[in-house]
This record gives sequence, C-alpha cells and structure tokens, in this order.
Amino acid sequence: MAVLASLPVLGAGNPQAESFYSIFIRTANTYNVKPKRLYELVMGVQNAAISKLKPNEHLRSLNGFSNTTEILVTGLERLTGNTCYRNHTFLKVRNVFARNHSGFFSETGKWCSRCIDPENIDVRELMISSLRGTYCCPIHNLALQSKCPVCFALQHFAWRCPGSRHCMKCGAALWKACEKASFSESAEWRDAQLRELVSFVSDPSSSDVSHDWSKKLRVGLDNLVASQRRRGELYTFREWSWIIEFKQALPLVLPRLENLLRLASIQAVSLTQLIISPEENCSPRLLPLEEMATEHRSRRSRPEDKWILAAEVLRSLSESDSFLPLPSATALARSLDLLPSGMRQHFPDQCRAYTILRRERAKKMADEEYLKVCAVADEYCRSMYGRDEHLYVRSGGAEIALRTGCSKHLAEAAMHVAMRNFT
Ligand SMILES: [Zn+2]
Ligand SMILES: [Zn+2]
Repeated sequence: MAVLASLPVLGAGNPQAESFYSIFIRTANTYNVKPKRLYELVMGVQNAAISKLKPNEHLRSLNGFSNTTEILVTGLERLTGNTCYRNHTFLKVRNVFARNHSGFFSETGKWCSRCIDPENIDVRELMISSLRGTYCCPIHNLALQSKCPVCFALQHFAWRCPGSRHCMKCGAALWKACEKASFSESAEWRDAQLRELVSFVSDPSSSDVSHDWSKKLRVGLDNLVASQRRRGELYTFREWSWIIEFKQALPLVLPRLENLLRLASIQAVSLTQLIISPEENCSPRLLPLEEMATEHRSRRSRPEDKWILAAEVLRSLSESDSFLPLPSATALARSLDLLPSGMRQHFPDQCRAYTILRRERAKKMADEEYLKVCAVADEYCRSMYGRDEHLYVRSGGAEIALRTGCSKHLAEAAMHVAMRNFT
C-alpha cells in the first residue's frame, strides 16, 4: 500500500534523466515538510540508523552507490509504490567505481541558467549535472555554472529545493548568467561519455553490472598485455606504461571514474561500452596511431629476401680466406641497408659466431704482421750496424713503415725490439 504520492519522473533512459536527489526533495516539498523529516521517515521505515549528514554528503547519499543510497531508495519506493527510483541513482554501477565516490561527484552545485529561470516552475536537478567534469546542460546546451555571478561564492548542495535560484551567500539571482557552451575537444568527449553513462544507468531495461566486473576487466587487461609483448606497434610508450600500472593496481582497488575514462580513451571505446563488456573492449586496439605509421612500419615490413641475402653474405664471409679482413657486423648490416639490431635479432647465433671469428682473425693477422715487421726491422738494423752507423728509433721506424706499409707505431715497436740485439 502506497503511503506517499508517487511523482512522475522525467528523462529515464536519456541524458536528461532527473536525479534521485531531485525526486526526494520534490516529494518532501509536496507534503510541505523539510527534506530532513522525509529522510528520518524513510530511514525509520527501513529500520536504519539515522546519521547526521554533512551538506556535501547529501548528493552522494542520494544519487550515488553507497549503502545509504540503497536504503533511501528502497524505503522511498516502498512508501510511494514507485519502482523506478533506483534507476535515478548510480546504484547499477556500484561494482564498477571506487566505493568512496572519489572524483565521481562534483564538489559544488552546478546549474544551467535557463533551467532555473523563474519562468520555469518545475525545476529539477539532473543526474548529469551532479557528476564531476560535466560542463553542459543536456536540455539547453548552455554552460553549467557553479559560482554566483555577483560574489563568486561556490554553491554547495543543501537540503533545499533542487536548483535553488538565489545565491546562498549574497542572495543574488543565479539565473542571470547565460553562456553558450563551448569547450575543448576532450571536454566535449568527456561530456558525451557521461551523458551515455546516465542514459545507460537510468534506462529501466538495463540491469546491474555484476559483482565480478572488475575480475572481467582484469582478465581483459591480462590478455591485452600478453598479446602485445612488443609495445609500440599500437600504443604509445606513455599509454602502455599507464595500462601496466593500472592493471597492477586493479586487484587492490576499484577504478576511479577518471581512470576508466582514460582507459576508454586509450582503447578508443566509450565508457559505457567498457562498463557493459570489459573483456571485449580490452582487446588490442585495431587502429594504429597516425604518427607511428611511416617510419616504424617501413622497418617491420621489409621484404624477406633482404634477410636471406644478409644470411648468405654472413656465411660466405665466415667461410672466406683467412687473410681477408672482416667488416664488423654493424658495418655489414649498414652496407646492406639493414638495422644492426634487426640483424642480431634475425640471426643471433650466426652473428655471435661471426663476431668471434672476426676478432680471432684480426688478432691472428696482427700477430703475423708484427712478426713480418720485426723481421724487416732486424734486417735494417743489421745493415746499419754493418755500416757502423748510429741507430735511431724515430728515423728507423719511419724507414720501416715506408718499406712495409705498416703503421708508424708498429714499426717503432719493432725497432725497439731489434735494437736490443745490436747495442
Ligand atoms: Zn538547462
Ligand atoms: Zn552570491
């Protein structure tokens, strides 16, 4: 049996849905009692403890997804016989967002000047204007205000009629300021996400998000991270590291509205899609970023035969005559117009073997050359000594370097050794 009148509710299933806060206060106004009295009545009907609410908590307790909201909604539905009030709170998404409502509701009241115009008798508070980060009235497309145009005082929510028309501090008219809404692209996107969220929540045919929602999201993100080992093909570095960090925090806490909006923007899906099917909407993003299209792609899509050629060159050089000096693997890759790192990735074993071979060969060749230069130096010293001439390291080294074509440094070293035999 209904005890209280059931008021008609506006905007179910679209962004203009009225908030439960508004319904609650209109019901109290109908009986000409203070909303506090109605609150006590409803809590009493539900056998719930009456706690003292702070002014800023009213909105959260009435529109949000706390246990108090559940009690108040069930109580008022029992008293009025109306069963759709629940759709005008955010109880349906209580398993999605962090329970403390952090960053979910606006800290201050927001209103549209046209909505609270004195000519409009039936003022309602909309679900969307209570959310943080909404800037636009979905009915009039005007910018939402939060400060008194005269004294600039922020207007807080209180037990009063929805959309109070006068400043709480100086009493100035709040409906005077009238601005056409114009925002940045990201603010507009965000506004669209929140409108869609309100439409989803207030739709009588949509059902509650299940309690294992965050587990599903975690599975989706695990799959995403596992499938994209090589970051950078589809995500920027910042996006990817954010996803990893977000995933790691997820088992401990439910996400905040801000985080889910970020994930939705990275995945290029809407917030509501992410809420309805978290697993599917965490699949790897299909569209690559534009700025990575040119340079990065050309590396990846190099024709296969280039690598076959590289492997052949590598093998033939390894099997070549042992007197042929070998170029370094890096120089070899450069000469073939390939990336040295790609070469090492493609042929890790061959590259390692090649580098060892090249080092050994260079050492052997250096040893052989040294012995050859030593022999020449010995010969030179012997002839000079026979002619009874003085031996000098510098002039002798220059002479030997000229004869053998080796470096001056090596020639002088050989001179030092050779001179020991003749002095
Ligand atoms: Zn409006
Ligand atoms: Zn004021």
